[in-house]
Amino acid sequence: MNTENTQSNQTSAMKRVTILGATGSVGQNTLDLIRRNSAAYQIASLTGNQNITQLAKDAIEFKADFVATADDKRYEDLKAALAGTGIDCGAGRTAIIEAASRNADICMAAIVGVAGLEPTLKALETTPVIGLANKECLVTAGSLFMTKAREHGAHIIPVDSEHSGAFQCLLAECPNNIKAVTLTASGGPFRSHSLKELGQVTKQQALKHPNWEMGSKITIDSATLMNKGLELIEASHLFHLKAEQVNMLIHPQSVVHCLVSCKDGSTLAQLSAPDMRVPISYSLAWPERMQTPIEPIDLAKIAHLTFEPGDEVRFPCLRLAREVLESHNIAGPVLNAANEVAVEAFLNDHCTFMAIPDIIDAALDKLSGIGSNHDPQDLNAVLHLDQQARYLAFDLLKLTA
Ligand code: NDP
Repeated sequence: MNTENTQSNQTSAMKRVTILGATGSVGQNTLDLIRRNSAAYQIASLTGNQNITQLAKDAIEFKADFVATADDKRYEDLKAALAGTGIDCGAGRTAIIEAASRNADICMAAIVGVAGLEPTLKALETTPVIGLANKECLVTAGSLFMTKAREHGAHIIPVDSEHSGAFQCLLAECPNNIKAVTLTASGGPFRSHSLKELGQVTKQQALKHPNWEMGSKITIDSATLMNKGLELIEASHLFHLKAEQVNMLIHPQSVVHCLVSCKDGSTLAQLSAPDMRVPISYSLAWPERMQTPIEPIDLAKIAHLTFEPGDEVRFPCLRLAREVLESHNIAGPVLNAANEVAVEAFLNDHCTFMAIPDIIDAALDKLSGIGSNHDPQDLNAVLHLDQQARYLAFDLLKLTA
């Protein structure tokens, strides 16, 4: 047997994966799966921001071709950490764009916030499969993003567990058969809190999600239910659904991720343990599935699955996101930017939990009516709206502080 040939065949059959946001929660779960399936995947590029130690450690372990930090000031640290390894590295916005543009079979888009938009748009040009964790891409620039994906023939495989569930339920369905898609939400740590109690919650309490281990921004978004609001907008773009076809339900056990209702009265559901490695593995292996360490759920053991409607009075972020969805997403960049600023302020003890929806509401109110009747059609227009909303949210924060 010619072992040299066999080895090179194996290498060429391996999928090359770029991870944007490799040092974060989704990024680390992706690397965990690749470590367990090292015969099938190899790393092309990795990116991070502040966590240079983790970024360099992973780059060395996975023999990355290229590594980038978004933070210019950390370039020397990254270079020093990679010295002698032969791994190419860069820093700043252009280096992140370079990582997104380099040859890969799959790009895991897992940068947090609107910072992920430009590199993910770039990845659409060269990478056939995008594992889309960064929902902000679709909230801020849904039409632009989906149009560009179509133009370049890129497959978008959602990584959010609810959207991964919907994607799987919809695989064999003709779009005309679909009445509605319902995303579930755990309800977060304050599901049963009264309005008065919500006024007193702390950052430490908000960061304790009952079911999921995630980065701090999405964990706060889960506590305010803004995460579900952003996901309703995300689903409308991903699956070409009208606002009235996208719903949400509180489901505290986080076992059923999505329900798809069909015109014949059938409802399809996707179930799995609340572990992000299930939807991440699906986006890496699509259209196949990969072996993961997660056991299929045992319904007899779980025994009770409960559902209840979302409360837009106690959780106004849900109402605000739905209003943006119903306005055909014109205000998506404003909703997202004001939320990013307000969540950051809450994490830095500059505002209360209930000031988050107040700031977003005020920003939407002030900036509504700007722009056209459609969501922004180019990146500059999105980033311009994003910037305006940020300035305004900072001003509003000074007023609420
Ligand atoms: P984390 O906060 O854990 O990680 C964010 C990643 O983005 C890190 O690698 C971070 O680098 C990097 N980053 C931060 N700021 C910038 C920037 N300005 N430019 C470039 N890179 C930057 O987030 P999560 O992994 O939790 O979430 C990532 C995305 O996936 C979000 O959009 C989230 O909504 C979505 N998502 C997450 C889920 C989860 O389970 N965590 C579930 C479903 C969706 P560093 O750490 O080095 O500073």
